[in-house]
Amino acid sequence: MRKKLEVDPLQRDRALAVYAILIKTYGERPITPRRSPMVELIMTMLSHRTTAANEKAAFNQMWAKYGSWEAIRDASVDELTQLIKPSTFPEAKAPNIKATLKRIIDERGEANIDFLRDLPVEQGLTWLTSLPGVGVKTATLVLLFCFAKPVIPVDTHVHRVSGRIGLFPIKTSAETAHTILLQLLPPDPYVLYNFHVDMLRHGQQICTWSDPRCEICPLLALCDYGQTRLQSIKKGTRSSPSPL
Ligand code: SF4
Repeated sequence: MRKKLEVDPLQRDRALAVYAILIKTYGERPITPRRSPMVELIMTMLSHRTTAANEKAAFNQMWAKYGSWEAIRDASVDELTQLIKPSTFPEAKAPNIKATLKRIIDERGEANIDFLRDLPVEQGLTWLTSLPGVGVKTATLVLLFCFAKPVIPVDTHVHRVSGRIGLFPIKTSAETAHTILLQLLPPDPYVLYNFHVDMLRHGQQICTWSDPRCEICPLLALCDYGQTRLQSIKKGTRSSPSPL
């Protein structure tokens, strides 16, 4: 999955400089699992294109009704779809969640993925992404947050901000962005975790999709996109936001 790409060594310096500014601005913290690996997996499946509040509401409604992974596996698709409706695309997520639970329980004898802790990271990624509805973003999030494996979840914020800063071309796919970021950053779960968390925060608070606040951004000196954007605003030639 992690094919090698040619990476300019100067880009590594750039990525490290970005990381240094991010942790100076937003701080760093140890990797602390926020929920069990099974809950992390299923909640992340629910989280796609969904706010944190709606992801939680969908999960809570589902769990209040069924109360066990086995009962969710055996639930009717229609009923499960209704229960997880606070999440977007419930009609796609419900069958995927059921099928993923069935795969795990059939294969492991129980709803438990703790074995990933002892699996090499590439094998863990391959296994997780073979589950129905589980992509690289969900797999990397489970592996990094729950098992401190050296991967980096590329969510919409990490993708957009890293692209604007020029760590990869702006149209790069999330999967290729994951490969590139892994080659730019040290293979240290602590660094990857804090890069992810701080980049996410930066994307939510400063480098937003529609109106990045470049004028107060601590990364402006490293960001050609932001500098060009500010110049365009000054000249009055800027018309629309970035596609990312
Ligand atoms: S300078 Fe602007 S575009 Fe660049 S990272 Fe900061 S807010 Fe985003």
